[in-house]
Amino acid sequence: MYTESMKESIKKLEATRPERTKQEIPLLSAEERQKLLEEFHPDFKKGSMRALQVGPSKGEKTPHEFADLFEAYSLIDPEKYDLSQIDYETDVLVIGGGGAGASASILAQEAGARVLLVSKLRLGDANTNMAQGGIQGADKPNDSPVQHYLDVIGGGRLFNIPELVRALVIDAPEILSWLEQLGVMYDKEPDGTMITIHGGGTSRKRMHSARDYTGGEIMKTLRDEVNNRPIDVIEFSPMVELLIDGKKCTGAILYNLETKEYVNVRAKTTIIATGGSGRLHVQGFPTTNHYGATGDGPVIAYRAGCKIIFLDTIQYHPTGAAFPEQILGQLVTEKVRSLGAQLVNVEGNRFVYELETRDVEAAALIRECTKREKGVVTPSGMKGIWLDSPLIETLKGEGAIKKNLPAMYRQYERFNLDMSKEPILIYPTQHYQNGGLVINDRCETEIENLYVAGEASGGIHGRNRLMGNSLLDVVVFGRRAGRNAGEKAKSVTPGRLTLEHVKNYHRELKEAGIDPSRKAPVLLPDYRREEIRKKQAM
Ligand SMILES: Cc1cc2nc3c(=O)[nH]c(=O)nc-3n(C[C@H](O)[C@H](O)[C@H](O)COP(=O)(O)OP(=O)(O)OC[C@H]3O[C@@H](n4cnc5c(N)ncnc54)[C@H](O)[C@@H]3O)c2cc1C
Repeated sequence: MYTESMKESIKKLEATRPERTKQEIPLLSAEERQKLLEEFHPDFKKGSMRALQVGPSKGEKTPHEFADLFEAYSLIDPEKYDLSQIDYETDVLVIGGGGAGASASILAQEAGARVLLVSKLRLGDANTNMAQGGIQGADKPNDSPVQHYLDVIGGGRLFNIPELVRALVIDAPEILSWLEQLGVMYDKEPDGTMITIHGGGTSRKRMHSARDYTGGEIMKTLRDEVNNRPIDVIEFSPMVELLIDGKKCTGAILYNLETKEYVNVRAKTTIIATGGSGRLHVQGFPTTNHYGATGDGPVIAYRAGCKIIFLDTIQYHPTGAAFPEQILGQLVTEKVRSLGAQLVNVEGNRFVYELETRDVEAAALIRECTKREKGVVTPSGMKGIWLDSPLIETLKGEGAIKKNLPAMYRQYERFNLDMSKEPILIYPTQHYQNGGLVINDRCETEIENLYVAGEASGGIHGRNRLMGNSLLDVVVFGRRAGRNAGEKAKSVTPGRLTLEHVKNYHRELKEAGIDPSRKAPVLLPDYRREEIRKKQAM
């Protein structure tokens, strides 16, 4: 499968393996990390962002790909749209069928509320389902929520909102056991002790996993729980606009992807759990994200008056697949490095400690392939770095890869690559939205009766999330949002359905001279080539 030049490079990698196994690379100092980030991390690339011209976070910088959506008109014409008919009425409307949405629905239903969960695709078609490596939680005797707190803040470059981190780490042990009670099967020692490993930036072995399909295991369990409860679910019906009465949220408009009709939902409280935005392909990066990850929640809530935070920081996962091209950008879990695989350049040399935080790791990889010109060239001309996966078998014994990384092993086996015998080629890929909508530790927003949970929110992880803290965050804050929205709904009288906020936003856009043909949310990415687009428009 590998080309001749790639095979030559692999020979060098194999030759250095015995020495590399003994080699110690120290962690970078704070100054070295900052310098590396400023020179090579895509967030720092000049000209890649712009300040928003409109809305509640006017002046904040964000990548052009996001700014194009925030500075866009609604898919709905608020002057003409008919809101006289209410198609669905509920206590709590949950928007998004991933880990945050499912957790929120369960807790809202437990609080006694009528719950309607709506999703863009099917329940469980979500980034949560794709998560591989694990979920953090301080439940070992040598660990504590305080230790976990310090790691999260350090990883986030000290920008994190303290009250949100506090909620994250304090709830974590309870979340691990709640998931287990629902049916999640974690990896365990024969005596029943949880198996835990390190992730980049963790001071304790705190990563709990279900092989390398932890998110799949969690999503399957939560989905079953939603289906087993009296929770109504509508699939293939993304939210396209919120409904606001003064400063209160009163529901949302959905778009039925099948019938192409709009649907009006009136709700006492609403929870946005629409996840991330990898499919925006910031700076042309490939992505690990699922097809529906187009950042809709923040874009729609921003129009309604919710502020955003840290949307100038994107997490590029250091190890996305760079070869074969069919899986370009797909995730190679950090667990591969946690288990001992090393990053090696074209000459067979290491150049960074493998468990630096992801931002630093990605910047080091980009430097190796650009300025230092030590990348391995693929047949398409792309450059990548070797991940010396066979080293895992050397360190942990034969069969360790198939046992700990069965999904990853199969992903490469489909292309006749045996990652237990040959290294795999990787390069950074767009993975996670570090920022999002501003919330407090009850998941409340600036708009009354509107809550946000999961990747759509920002502040928890500062400017860089550590591995395993997102699966944790979506359940911690999903549950908090569900419980609080469910309780609040008991005292809310259903409000009027209006689109006044959209009219006002359109006015602001017009005054700023924004092209009226720019519309958002995009709902699904458009991968048609330019000439096909033109042909189809004719
Ligand atoms: C490949 C991969 C591996 C990962 N591995 C890990 C890991 O090991 N550990 C970890 O902690 N984190 C990991 N992450 C990150 C983590 O999985 C996600 O950040 C997290 O699961 C997001 O959960 P969520 O519920 O906020 O969003 P999602 O799980 O993405 O769910 C969002 C839901 O909202 C729906 N939706 C979107 N727009 C709309 C709309 N307009 N209307 C209605 N519905 C909408 C989507 O279809 C989806 O159902 C990984 C992510 C990926 C992509």
